[in-house]
Amino acid sequence: MTITPVRLSCTRGPLISAEGLNGVGKTYLTNRAVEALDDKPLMLDEFSQRANGRPGLGEALLRSLREASAGDPFLRGGTPMTEALILMAIKRHDLDTVLPELSSGRAVVEGRSVDTTAVCQALLLHPDDPDAALETATALLDLASSYRPLPDLTILVTDDTSEALVRAQRRDRCVFTNEQAAFMRKACQLFERLAATDPARYRVVDRRSVDEHEATEQIRAWIQDADGDLGCMMEPWQGPGAPCMCCGHRAAVESV
Ligand SMILES: [Zn+2]
Repeated sequence: MTITPVRLSCTRGPLISAEGLNGVGKTYLTNRAVEALDDKPLMLDEFSQRANGRPGLGEALLRSLREASAGDPFLRGGTPMTEALILMAIKRHDLDTVLPELSSGRAVVEGRSVDTTAVCQALLLHPDDPDAALETATALLDLASSYRPLPDLTILVTDDTSEALVRAQRRDRCVFTNEQAAFMRKACQLFERLAATDPARYRVVDRRSVDEHEATEQIRAWIQDADGDLGCMMEPWQGPGAPCMCCGHRAAVESV
């Protein structure tokens, strides 16, 4: 006998993430796109924009990663799997904090979500094997999806890595080392390959082929369209028949 939950239509808002390398302009473009929307989504800052001192467990976990990585811009402290689990816990914490907004029907846009963790930590585990890194990134996303539901929609902003490096260095007033620049190049390729594995969830803005205005318009349309037919959001670890985290409905279970 196979038990499958019957998909319900939910009153919740869509959970959207904006992903991409440092310096691709994802925050800038997403903020501009949102300006043109009547119903503003809740914007959740990405890791690098969170100043020290904001209270909360997510920030405390992030601070511990910062301290352990001694200022590395990619939070690399030498134990990639431990870091992956802490990063997933931070993203679970983010979801917990936005559940009331999602439940009220409002869209939520996360600056970076579990895809960043999957890409960066997979690269650390397989620095010289792009195929193994892709396989591991996919497996890490599966692991992340047992902590919390994946975003309904993930917008990947990508660009030539050299352009992204220039922007990131200007913004952060730093000079990346050759090793850090090489890490970004590999991350750029892995992000693009990972996005291609799940076209239903990912939308890709490639700044090598669209200008700023077109990119903003694409992102605006995607965020607006995401508020369509959304299913209920279940706790991944509770199994079929669990109540929706947003509307509380239990899916009817079909036995075949
Ligand atoms: Zn629901």
